[in-house]
Amino acid sequence: MALKKIREILDGCCLADQTIQIRGWVYRKREGKELIFLVLRDSTGVIQCTVKKNSSAWSDAQKVTIESSLTLEGVAHEDKRAPGGYEVSTESINITGLAETFPIGKDKSEEFIRDMRHLWLRSRKMNLVMKVRNQVFESAREYFNSQKYTEVSPPMFISAAVEGGSTLFGLKYFDQQLYLTQSSQLYLEILMFSLEKVFCIAPSFRAEKSRTIRHLTEYWHMEGEWPFADMNDLMAFEEGLMTHICQSVSEKCEKEFAELGADINKLKAVKAPFPKITYKEAIERLKPKNPALDWGADLGYEDEKVLAEEFGQPFFVYDYPTEIKAFYCKTYQDHPEIAMSVDMMVPRIGEISTGGAREDNKEILIERMKAQGLNPQDYEWYLDLRRYGTVPHAGFGMGVERLIVWMLDLDNIIDAIPFPRTTRRFYP
Ligand code: ATP
Ligand code: MG
Repeated sequence: MALKKIREILDGCCLADQTIQIRGWVYRKREGKELIFLVLRDSTGVIQCTVKKNSSAWSDAQKVTIESSLTLEGVAHEDKRAPGGYEVSTESINITGLAETFPIGKDKSEEFIRDMRHLWLRSRKMNLVMKVRNQVFESAREYFNSQKYTEVSPPMFISAAVEGGSTLFGLKYFDQQLYLTQSSQLYLEILMFSLEKVFCIAPSFRAEKSRTIRHLTEYWHMEGEWPFADMNDLMAFEEGLMTHICQSVSEKCEKEFAELGADINKLKAVKAPFPKITYKEAIERLKPKNPALDWGADLGYEDEKVLAEEFGQPFFVYDYPTEIKAFYCKTYQDHPEIAMSVDMMVPRIGEISTGGAREDNKEILIERMKAQGLNPQDYEWYLDLRRYGTVPHAGFGMGVERLIVWMLDLDNIIDAIPFPRTTRRFYP
């Protein structure tokens, strides 16, 4: 007998006179006197199955509970009234795992559902979000590969902070103090000297106390680094990557977007080049709404949102004040107060990536470290990269979950990752 995925049936691939088999779980159940409706789910979708009172499946259909696993045999046929347009007339049911009373029901609070993450991941919403997430990874890799970047694997345990220590997680490593990485940038810089164009998609950890819709303590960071690149090369690459991901996801995830009620046209509209403004222009634009904002201040979430609303699409803000940027940011020779740093922003979320040119001069780098109260001795290996064959180079890091929150218009970043880690959540 033909074993079918639910998607195949919904795509009309099953003949009306052929008995088919579905393996799945009971998603919904409605019981009438003469008819039981079971909505089954598998990884590919949900489908309504009917069981008639006179069928041999009746007693098993009565017995099954929400989330019971089973193999169902029946005949699929088109039915305009059924969700998805197809229905299965059930002939037999073979229960694999009879489920106890499922704790998640309609009347449960958001808080309760979050505590039940291990079960909530079976919901249609999470199933669809994770498929879109998978496509984002695939499309991103596709673009990096097409541009001849090599994917590398940086470490998660590190011995020194990449930048400021305030959001750094420390941990006991046998008898020593180590940290969890906040960014793989410095390691990509090492590998760049061997492989030239490199990228990674790996976790980054931030001890973020702020509870916002865009911060996790563990998130997936898509980072790239390559030699002989300047700010224009950097922005051109980032907008190319973003355009490819949006176009490719919009082509391959049409069904997921439709079922989630997300606007796919927003993705289709993403096309390089993106609007670009300097930090100085950003301040001037924001000044009427936020008079306290002066040159030198970092843009806050609220500022970024206001700017992003004006653009209504991904855009760049570049040339930030040196004093608010990390020690490795390259500065302009005749304007050392300005750093070659660029953020990509999107509506509602604000910043989704930060990139820039890296300081390639050893002496300037040491000065910058000292100015920020860092000890150059802690960065000996990093300084070696400038000692032995230094080159101008640039790179960036984009938060994968921030990208997904924006794409799908999710309420909160925690739904863009299967097992969100925040100040309060680390279970299961
Ligand atoms: P923010 O100011 O929003 O906290 P950041 O400037 O500190 O972010 P970067 O160090 O520039 O972050 O990290 C690069 C990218 O990683 C960010 O643009 C963002 O997309 C993502 N990112 C940073 N922190 C987080 C976080 N806590 N949770 C999820 N994504 C993050
Ligand atoms: Mg940033």
